[in-house]
Amino acid sequence: MEKVIIVGSGCAGLTAAIYAARANLSPLVLEGRQPGGQLSTTTLVENYPGFPDGIDGPELILNMHRQAEKFGARFSYAEVTDFDESNKHVRIKADDEWLETQALIIASGASARYLGLENEEKLIGHGLTSCATCDGAFYKNVPVCVVGGGDSAAEESLFLTRFASKVYLIHRRDTLRASKIMIARTFAHAKIKPVWNSIVTEVLDVKSDKVVGVRIKNVKTGEASVNDCAGVFVAIGHIPNTQIFKGMIDMDEAGYIIPKRGSATNVPGVFVAGDCADKTYRQAVTAAGLGCAAAMDAERYLAARNE
Ligand code: NAP
Repeated sequence: MEKVIIVGSGCAGLTAAIYAARANLSPLVLEGRQPGGQLSTTTLVENYPGFPDGIDGPELILNMHRQAEKFGARFSYAEVTDFDESNKHVRIKADDEWLETQALIIASGASARYLGLENEEKLIGHGLTSCATCDGAFYKNVPVCVVGGGDSAAEESLFLTRFASKVYLIHRRDTLRASKIMIARTFAHAKIKPVWNSIVTEVLDVKSDKVVGVRIKNVKTGEASVNDCAGVFVAIGHIPNTQIFKGMIDMDEAGYIIPKRGSATNVPGVFVAGDCADKTYRQAVTAAGLGCAAAMDAERYLAARNE
């Protein structure tokens, strides 16, 4: 029987682990498929307080990991595949093993959203990707496309200018929703060319098993065209990783978990933190704050239960 299991090892999960470990709860962190969460695939993080010169996302995550370990958090790469709240204690299936815990913190984050086009999946990893930091260096001196209009799209576009000959930023409207500072930097870069009011209708070419371009449609004029490129970077937001809790933990129609009081969910002993419950702020620092809150709520729940 575990005292606290934490699902996810992004900013929220690791902060929860630091707090739970310092409260002597020896939490078990199930890291899952993407250890470190979204920060592990970003570059410079300039808005996390305490780092005036910025800090690389992976370094920030490694520091949090070490900090949690120092206080006694335990880690496993197991992936959570099932959840059962019908017993006295919450049970969670990690790989093939059922684990029982007095308190559970869900910090499973969110994963990149893709365009939902036919055959899209066949080109993922063959020129179609959602991570410029991971794959950008493969695109030296060739044109690439980025799809999206938020901070992620702006950040990915700027990062890709280090390698690509040209970055086409394809957005379905004619204004970016990214923050002002990111918009200014994006438009100031000579390699980035915005393609406004346009949606991607097909990524070419499945037959040759690699990306050679995108078919786009101007949503204002209806005009169709082809934009040659060697890579497509999709940056159109994220989907919360909450599928296994569906039907048991209250969530909205998009899959974001709805906390009740503080970080508590509708199931006693189950708490939530970070991007799997936050569709508004989604920042590293807010995820960390929510991770802290969930650990404190779990600690109080356990103290009251064991009195
Ligand atoms: P986001 O802000 O939700 O932006 C998603 C973008 O994709 C929007 O421009 C949206 O268009 C577009 N989009 C959504 N679905 C689409 C579809 N099916 N086809 C075409 N386009 C589609 O997501 P994000 O950029 O990943 O940012 C998420 C959060 O993380 C934000 O709070 C952001 O501030 C934060 N973030 C911050 C930084 C930074 O500070 N450096 C970096 C990355 C992320 P519309 O605009 O028309 O809705």
